[in-house]
Amino acid sequence: MNRRLLALLLALTGAGCAGPLATTFSSTSLGTAADGTLRHPASLPFEGEGYAVPVPWRTRHANYGTETLVDLIARVSREVERDAPGGVAAIGDLSRRRGGGSAQHRSHQDGRDVDVFFYATDAGGRPVRLNEAMLHFSSEGRAVRWSPPQGTRAPARPVPPYRFDARRNWAFVRGLLSDPDAEVQWIFVQRSLGAALLREAAAEGDDPALLARAAFILHQPSDSEPHDDHMHVRLYCGIGERSFGCADRGPVRWWKKMWKYMEAPFGRAPAESVGADRLAAFGRLIREETPPTPAAGKLTS
Ligand SMILES: [Zn+2]
Repeated sequence: MNRRLLALLLALTGAGCAGPLATTFSSTSLGTAADGTLRHPASLPFEGEGYAVPVPWRTRHANYGTETLVDLIARVSREVERDAPGGVAAIGDLSRRRGGGSAQHRSHQDGRDVDVFFYATDAGGRPVRLNEAMLHFSSEGRAVRWSPPQGTRAPARPVPPYRFDARRNWAFVRGLLSDPDAEVQWIFVQRSLGAALLREAAAEGDDPALLARAAFILHQPSDSEPHDDHMHVRLYCGIGERSFGCADRGPVRWWKKMWKYMEAPFGRAPAESVGADRLAAFGRLIREETPPTPAAGKLTS
């Protein structure tokens, strides 16, 4: 085989540029998140730098996704660990090996969804690991109730005095939204907790354009749980996947690579719009002004 042909084949199969977690063939998401399947899945190892799949979730066989999603989780968890050491991202369900429906989720069917527990700290502000169950947080960020995996009992011990770790949760969201390879469509999160993330971002002086985009993508869905115990991340179909039948539901917005070249209010936010309230308003403005979606559908998690 001559060299050019070999290079072409490598490019077509995705080999040569794929990460260590990738499979031999390119993974492909087919259908929609709520009615889809997954071909040539990549599996997320149960532990990696800065993340772990808690034991009760390991037996659910739902640690499969597209290479893009699996690599993204590993990459962003690592970034958060290096940026703010000590926290561990607890990763819940992705999809099953071949995708499709499950008892636990309406979506999570085609390898583009993942549930990530919220990072938490103890009363002294030190990061803690959640090994047995998620925790529901109040609007003020206080742990109020266990959220055990479906079909199991909540831990017997009382809910510890843990807090929503805005710093690491925002670092994780920032990593998702800044990633060079993946395009995030939604991050489902309870409204007040989402606002806490935006406040954290503003306090840290993050790029207003990033905050404005976050204000749009952080979203409390109206047709499912409020997501006060985890964030649900959904990626857009990859360009190549669309030609195989992967279909996005809900708003099909600009891609972030275009975002920064667009004028406000669709592109870079005016400098004076920094501040959580202004950004939330900005997010609403953008949402209202988004053109009608070509493929409107239910948001499912
Ligand atoms: Zn979910």
